[in-house]
Amino acid sequence: MGPGPSDIHASVLAALAAPTVGHLDPYFLQVMDEVQSMLRAVFQTTSDMTLAVSGTGSAGMETCIANLIEPGDRFIACVNGVFGGRMADVAERCGAVVTKQERDFGEAFDPEEIERVVREQAPKVVGIVHAETSTGVLQPLEDIARIVHDAGALLLVDCVTSLGGLPVEIDRLGIDAAYSGTQKCLSCPPGLSPVTFGPRALDAMDSRKTRVKSWYLDVGLLRNYWGGERAYHHTAPINMNYALHQALRRVLDEGLDARFARHRLHHQALKAGLAAMGIDCSVPEGRQLPMLTSVWIPEGVDDGRLRSQLLQDFGVEIGGGLGPLKGRTWRIGLMGDSARRSNVMLFLTALEQCLKQQDIRVPVGAGADAAAAVYAESS
Ligand SMILES: *Cc1c(COP(=O)(O)O)cnc(C)c1O
Repeated sequence: MGPGPSDIHASVLAALAAPTVGHLDPYFLQVMDEVQSMLRAVFQTTSDMTLAVSGTGSAGMETCIANLIEPGDRFIACVNGVFGGRMADVAERCGAVVTKQERDFGEAFDPEEIERVVREQAPKVVGIVHAETSTGVLQPLEDIARIVHDAGALLLVDCVTSLGGLPVEIDRLGIDAAYSGTQKCLSCPPGLSPVTFGPRALDAMDSRKTRVKSWYLDVGLLRNYWGGERAYHHTAPINMNYALHQALRRVLDEGLDARFARHRLHHQALKAGLAAMGIDCSVPEGRQLPMLTSVWIPEGVDDGRLRSQLLQDFGVEIGGGLGPLKGRTWRIGLMGDSARRSNVMLFLTALEQCLKQQDIRVPVGAGADAAAAVYAESS
């Protein structure tokens, strides 16, 4: 129940253990085709340039930025947490002239401030995080996509934590490039990074004057392997693709809407339980992530001791705060297969016990009761 990796279903782990075939084996080519088509369904896009980059979510970030940015291009990084900051770092390394549009950790961006900075800077690319895992904040994208496009810029969105847990509507919003990871709401081990590029992003890549600085992540080369020609580029992580194939099949078998509703339900139950124990969300209503609930640590609690006791005595992992929120917040993940009633009930009960050990008294059973009431209401 940390901020990822999430629990992995046994069938996904079993897929990892299937026989490794060659990267040009007809069977593997079929797996790739199906991974691509299932990724399009989850990203809600029809773009052919949707594939799984070898590497974790950060490799997807680097792929998008390295392919869209040439030295001297302007990049606006919207930074309200760790991952927006990482985008700025990667863009600088790719030679971009980076402007950081900053907000305190825990806040979301308003369309007006994005409009202002986009007008001022006339950037090539605006990068923003949809679900900031470091703070638990949801960033609405609707108005921002329109603003960025009106200014003739490209919108790059980090969907690492949102994909599979919240709608990521690439085509409807007109998002030009996006990347995700496998180990958050897709419930697959870490190791691949789904990416997708729309027509404007592909045009920008086609009209580059300089070569992409990274050979490994050059989409022009990757598309020859994932696309028609099947030209060898690097040996695909065969078994990771099996696992992603099975994880995506589970996502689509459940259905996107049902999956989003499941994440919302368990988040509501968790929140109700925490509230009954006097523990408050650190993010205002309407900006909270269903898959990652960030709460203020109650006064007087030894954060490190409590989290290690949760892990040692109950086998439950949660995340601590990052950056300025270190020691002040807990980040409780309910991602993918981890978003289930037994986890919520165990966590609330375990938390009560751990608080008790530190002489912090909460009404006995109140957390679990409040969560159970939410479940009763929903059934
Ligand atoms: C986890 C995460 C990343 C980085 O992914 P890795 O798999 O750790 O490389 C990037 N952005 C967000 C929002 C994340 O949650």
